[in-house]
Amino acid sequence: MRVAVIGSGYVGLVAAACFAELGHHVVCVDNDHAKVAALKAGKTPIYEDYLTEVLARHQGDNLSFSTSLGTSVKGAEAIFIAVGTPMSPTGDADLSYVESVTRELAKSINSYKVVVEKSTVPVCTSAWIERSLVLNGCPRAEFDVVSNPEFLREGSAVSDFLYPDRIVVGAASQRAAQVLRDIYAPLLDGSYSSHTGAVPRPEGAKPKPRYIETSPQSAELVKHACNAFLAMKISFINAVANVCEAVDADIEEVCLGIGSDTRIGHRFLRAGIGYGGSCFPKDVAAFRSAARVHGYKFELLDAVHKINEQQRQLFLRKVRMALWTLKGKRLCVLGLAFKDGTDDVRESPAIQIVQSLLHEGCEIVAFDPAAMTNAKALFSDSIFYATDAYAAAEGADALLILTEWKEFASLDLIRIRELLKYPIVLDGRNLYAPEAMAKAGLDYHSVGRAARAISHPIPVQARVAD
Ligand code: NAD
Repeated sequence: MRVAVIGSGYVGLVAAACFAELGHHVVCVDNDHAKVAALKAGKTPIYEDYLTEVLARHQGDNLSFSTSLGTSVKGAEAIFIAVGTPMSPTGDADLSYVESVTRELAKSINSYKVVVEKSTVPVCTSAWIERSLVLNGCPRAEFDVVSNPEFLREGSAVSDFLYPDRIVVGAASQRAAQVLRDIYAPLLDGSYSSHTGAVPRPEGAKPKPRYIETSPQSAELVKHACNAFLAMKISFINAVANVCEAVDADIEEVCLGIGSDTRIGHRFLRAGIGYGGSCFPKDVAAFRSAARVHGYKFELLDAVHKINEQQRQLFLRKVRMALWTLKGKRLCVLGLAFKDGTDDVRESPAIQIVQSLLHEGCEIVAFDPAAMTNAKALFSDSIFYATDAYAAAEGADALLILTEWKEFASLDLIRIRELLKYPIVLDGRNLYAPEAMAKAGLDYHSVGRAARAISHPIPVQARVAD
């Protein structure tokens, strides 16, 4: 198939590379000229496992990059829109990038095309795209609009795309539905994984995804409801963690008990400093907003958001409690990305915590295995950047773990204690057993578990926020 992908961000670039990997002829379009120049020069602008290899395998053969939407879409049978849909100041999804692409498409469509919504958008957006194409001069018979939400996770985006749990396609016409079936055929029949050199199937991934065909509105709702549900699971367990702290229970024990219920499962039941990233915060807000527009007040989502915000404040309060005063304190920060496996710092809880600590007069020495470049673009020289976790810890008044990178879960704790000025660790991701920290002689403060103070007892103050 001939496919155009508009947008070369985390979703667009991965989708373009993976469609090429499935044997299609792909052109990936972006209006960011510098990004396209870098891609053409063989650079991979984001950090994702397998992405560089897959891009290198297809670039110049069945994958190309362009800044010209008009010429790129002319030969395509399907056009995937994968531009950003950021949160507007009111909490609604800002659909101006989608609309701008639609206006350009209307001028360029020269024969029947399937226009595919890959970006995460509020319910009924496909109807708006259809209307906009017609209003901007594209004959109705020349296109169909399909919703095909993307469920990849940053950090495992290529594997997620090629071995998804399910593919959801919301098409109103059989003709368009067939185009999408053809595009995904190598995944649906399981043939992709048997190709020599195929990206390996992750452990536990199904050989064939479930293919779910729905109405466009249902497909749009699946994506928002899915992200809102996962965010709710995180806020729920964080709320339980706060109760644990108040009664000296252990959230890890509680999670083991809850997650072992097969109706619930262990995933997304990790207490910590809350969710972040470019999707959950904006999608919770956009879903709440879309529900309101259609007459329903989704108050559960207000609580999900509020608990998430509160979680960062509670962690900051722990930092203050452990260090007494913050002004002038040098803090080692491990992790800046919003989660492990990615360089993405958008809406990262770690970034927000660092900003608050800077505001309170702390000096920050940070290390992240992948997100330092993106963090530098935000903080410039207002923080120090270390070359590894141990260099960051040297002489610091405390060590803070803010992202759940695997390597932060296996630090040499004795060495850390020797490097730190004070033996204080605040773990926003519960990467350690409190006993291991105690054995290494470190005061350990985590989430949903009693603090273990080795050096001196900490004066008791109210622990739960108002
Ligand atoms: P991104 O910001 O990384 O990339 C968007 C790209 O679109 C940018 O490179 C930008 O230059 C380009 N662009 C904007 N307007 C354009 C135009 N008119 N023509 C051509 N290119 C244009 O965004 P992303 O993280 O890839 O997300 C894209 C969409 O996918 C969003 O709706 C997001 O919610 C959704 N999504 C993201 C993820 C994720 O993990 N990042 C997962 C699933 C779904």
